Amino acid sequence: MTGTQRIAPETPLVDVMDGCARWQIPIHEHGFIALTDVMPRLVPQGQTADFAIVQAARVSYGAGTKKVQEDRGLVRYLLRHRHTTPFEMVEFKFHIAMPIFVARQWIRHRTANVNEYSARYSVMPDQFYRPSADNVRKQSMANRQGGDEPIDVGTAEEFLAYLDRAQSLYGEYERLMGKGVSRELARIGLPVSVYTQWYWKCDLHNVMHFLSLRMDEHAQEEIRDYADAMYALIKPICPVAMEAFRDYRLNGLFLSGLEVEALRTGEALRTENKREQAEWEAKRKRLGL
Ligand SMILES: Cc1cc2nc3c(=O)[nH]c(=O)nc-3n(C[C@H](O)[C@H](O)[C@H](O)COP(=O)(O)OP(=O)(O)OC[C@H]3O[C@@H](n4cnc5c(N)ncnc54)[C@H](O)[C@@H]3O)c2cc1C
Repeated sequence: MTGTQRIAPETPLVDVMDGCARWQIPIHEHGFIALTDVMPRLVPQGQTADFAIVQAARVSYGAGTKKVQEDRGLVRYLLRHRHTTPFEMVEFKFHIAMPIFVARQWIRHRTANVNEYSARYSVMPDQFYRPSADNVRKQSMANRQGGDEPIDVGTAEEFLAYLDRAQSLYGEYERLMGKGVSRELARIGLPVSVYTQWYWKCDLHNVMHFLSLRMDEHAQEEIRDYADAMYALIKPICPVAMEAFRDYRLNGLFLSGLEVEALRTGEALRTENKREQAEWEAKRKRLGL
């Protein structure tokens, strides 16, 4: 067995986070999302983390590829053709503080590594999410899962008072722990607006999947605020991949077989389903038809 070969880089390496420990964006009154690490953290001078996508892709396409396609073209080709594994070569680690109702939606994304604050071990913070009075949203009529325009001022105030009552239970939480109730039980009386924190590590392919679902207008506004901030944090780290993501995923449009047929024939959508018809109308509008 031979010894380890330590090979110096051909070009000096630079830190994609400019030597910073974290890049952080505050969200709402108590929350934040911070980028704390990236792989690759060091890249050849003049490059970005897009470098790792191209490096991996060239293993599959062979040495001749570079002459045929420039790096940017290759990344865009990979994304368009859903050749996804090269995007898994870039990883991000985030530290996030968010209300529990946002964390519940977030945790459904199973392809990340997560380590969360333990409310059995530690005391929950006295921090709760409270929307501003002009962002108390009415129930949407079109989307059973969604909020819509702001509700009238009187009802908004009533809603905030209801939140305040729930959040004032924090005093009881502290008092009962003081009397010896375990932290693991005392916490269960707190509302889902209370804040938690976690470290969340995920590769770029799955981050893009997360962003495409959670930056979408159908996602709840509160988690969308985090997704928008995540996008802003990683954009300068791998600008080429994120440009391709914007062009081919975020601003793209999926058409069903029935929609393609309607587009081709100029006839109505061949379905009785009202919801599908409404979705087709929305797509037609986006297409300027
Ligand atoms: C607007 C919106 C509304 C939603 N409403 C609800 C709701 O009412 N109720 C509810 O329960 N959830 C709801 N969700 C959550 C949703 O159903 C998904 O669980 C969530 O978006 C994560 O998506 P995912 O599974 O594709 O992502 P990930 O878990 O990150 O997985 C990424 C991809 O990996 C693959 N994968 C991961 N794990 C497995 C596995 N075990 N087996 C096979 N393939 C796997 C799949 O291809 C998957 O698409 C909603 C999500 C959104 C965006």
